[in-house]
Amino acid sequence: MRLGGAARYVIEVERPEEVPDAYGFATQYHLPTFVLGYGANTLGHDEGFEGVIIINRMRGITEINQSSTIKIMGGEYWDNVVAYACERGLTGIEALSKIPSLAGSAPVQNIGAYGQDISDTFVEAEAYDSATNTFVTLSKADLQFSYRRSILNTTAKNRYFIISITLELHPGSMSPPFYNSIEKFINDHDLTDFSPQGIRDIVSQLRADKLPDPLEKASAGSFFHNVYLTEEAAEIAADKGIPVRHGKDGYKVSSAWLIEQCGFKGKLLHGIRVSDKAPLVLINESATSYNDLAKARSEITGKVYDRFGYWLEQEPVEIQ
Ligand SMILES: Cc1cc2nc3c(=O)[nH]c(=O)nc-3n(C[C@H](O)[C@H](O)[C@H](O)COP(=O)(O)OP(=O)(O)OC[C@H]3O[C@@H](n4cnc5c(N)ncnc54)[C@H](O)[C@@H]3O)c2cc1C
Repeated sequence: MRLGGAARYVIEVERPEEVPDAYGFATQYHLPTFVLGYGANTLGHDEGFEGVIIINRMRGITEINQSSTIKIMGGEYWDNVVAYACERGLTGIEALSKIPSLAGSAPVQNIGAYGQDISDTFVEAEAYDSATNTFVTLSKADLQFSYRRSILNTTAKNRYFIISITLELHPGSMSPPFYNSIEKFINDHDLTDFSPQGIRDIVSQLRADKLPDPLEKASAGSFFHNVYLTEEAAEIAADKGIPVRHGKDGYKVSSAWLIEQCGFKGKLLHGIRVSDKAPLVLINESATSYNDLAKARSEITGKVYDRFGYWLEQEPVEIQ
């Protein structure tokens, strides 16, 4: 969001052996640590961070035993991983094209888009455990993935430093039916190429039409999670005329729909623009402080709560 003050220290690590030293430095000076990736899902506070930011700068993608299982160093830019897979005709992550992320951050909130989540292909991560000062391997089961969640942003938040991730992909392609907007794009443009590269091209176009380019406009992507309901609450919502979708993660109400219904679509609040194409996305147009963002956020969440009785939960992480 390009808001917030400076950090006291930043350490960039280029080899696994340097990770314990970075944490050791923080311990020595009694400072908190925060692991930063590309910064696409992170908010800084106005007063800055009196601690140590640690960044994974290890890059590279390698095939394991000449198979379609690949190991990616955590500092690699995520879209390079998707491009690598698509060039080799490997399916599993093509719908995750153009998500601004480093590979090490991708499992943290179980990145997902257009019907794929990274958990679908995730095998394991090599990590440094700052609680025990040891290197560990975290399996898919260890990470307990669900919608935009894993232990890395819940029960074990700030504990592990992801060094590398391993994904199991497959030669082949996604099969229909596709996610609604992909399906519509295919029909509208009479497309027949569903290869990983074909789907990557479609997703790239869909995202370019809808989402702000993070290098041009400051945003954190979706600012709020969608609302998940129990079956009983979903029935009540449907009775009230609220559209509820039943998907693989349960009963979902689109937070973009709720925000739009409250009249915020396209509105400018304290320098923060609610995107007119994707109302879940807040763009920093002229806000100068985290405080401006906090005011905009509370206007949106307050009105949605008053009207529908749902508290919108923020997606981006705060450095603190
Ligand atoms: C325009 C835009 C579109 C987006 N679209 C999507 C989308 O379609 N789907 C989606 O899921 N997300 C989306 N996002 C959100 C964002 O891209 C993802 O959350 C992404 O994984 C963030 O990666 P990052 O490297 O920027 O992480 P950061 O924002 O730097 O960090 C995010 C979290 O990961 C932790 N972390 C980072 N690196 C490591 C590491 N090596 N070890 C342990 N913890 C680490 C941080 O401490 C923090 O808690 C979008 C964001 C933007 C700006």
